[in-house]
Amino acid sequence: MKRLGCLVLALALLLCGCRQADGPTEMTVFAMDTVMDLKLWGPDAQQAAQKIQVLLQELEATWSVTDEDSLLSRLNRGQGTPDPRQQALLDLALEYKALTGGAFDPQLSAVADLWGFRSKAYAVPDAARIREALQTRQWDLGGILKGYAGNEAVSLLKALKIDRAILNLGGNVQTYGQKPDGSPWIIAIENPRGGQPVGQLAVSGTMAVVTSGNYQRYFEQDGKRYHHILDPETGYPAESGLASVTVVCSDAAKADALSTALFVMGLEEAAAFWRSHRDFQAVFVTLDGGIRVTADACFSGSPCEVIPYEN
Ligand code: AMP
Ligand code: MG
Repeated sequence: MKRLGCLVLALALLLCGCRQADGPTEMTVFAMDTVMDLKLWGPDAQQAAQKIQVLLQELEATWSVTDEDSLLSRLNRGQGTPDPRQQALLDLALEYKALTGGAFDPQLSAVADLWGFRSKAYAVPDAARIREALQTRQWDLGGILKGYAGNEAVSLLKALKIDRAILNLGGNVQTYGQKPDGSPWIIAIENPRGGQPVGQLAVSGTMAVVTSGNYQRYFEQDGKRYHHILDPETGYPAESGLASVTVVCSDAAKADALSTALFVMGLEEAAAFWRSHRDFQAVFVTLDGGIRVTADACFSGSPCEVIPYEN
């Protein structure tokens, strides 16, 4: 009976999220094909966590590439009409395409399908079929949706006057508010080769820390790795010499779009992009394990080379 009681309690905590005495309210949500961890502090934290859970599930239902009934699938079949809010997200994605000179491209769904990144039936496609799929403009917001969700979650946290929060939206980390002791949030940067993190970033207040990497989704064929970040010019996984890019930015959708785009650009072009914009910070891990950090980023851990403000 005692064991049954414990089991019921454990299940209840798992399903409803839990609040430790004076500690944060925590909730784990599975959405957008990934695990998301929410940690919130404040009197209305439980309510806010539930609202964020609903938000994440709604965004997934609207923008899923695998659900045939989603708005995104219908748009890709030439059906359905986005409401003004949904249209604004599509427009935003196209704005980032323009800003990044096409490195971020939210209409590569047909190409990703060919590689099996949807069905998980992975295979290197025929070159002619890739060229054909590149002409088929089909929406895929996978490179920006979690960031957009981060921004929407921040609006909810503000509206509900949450003290502070840290949300891990499947590798997209969103911090919110200040820690009581004024110390920064510390976010670990994964090692693309596995094992211990390569280092950590310190960020203050409300900030998004987003990583795109060749280790997050990939398959191997004939000893070669094929990952999920596609070069819009070739339709093949981007071979830019990078293993991961982490972007820190106050706007999470921008951080997300840029992490994908900078990965495609490669180190030189990405460094030039940072110099001409300066509204984000970045950490690059190269394929040979080198670490390059923009001069404005607060990185510690493994030895790294700083990318200076002036070239
Ligand atoms: P991220 O993990 O944010 O870099 O996004 C990668 C996801 O975005 C992939 O799984 C695809 O759904 C999509 N994607 C792949 N290549 C690109 C690209 N060049 N631009 C925009 N989205 C992309
Ligand atoms: Mg992205």
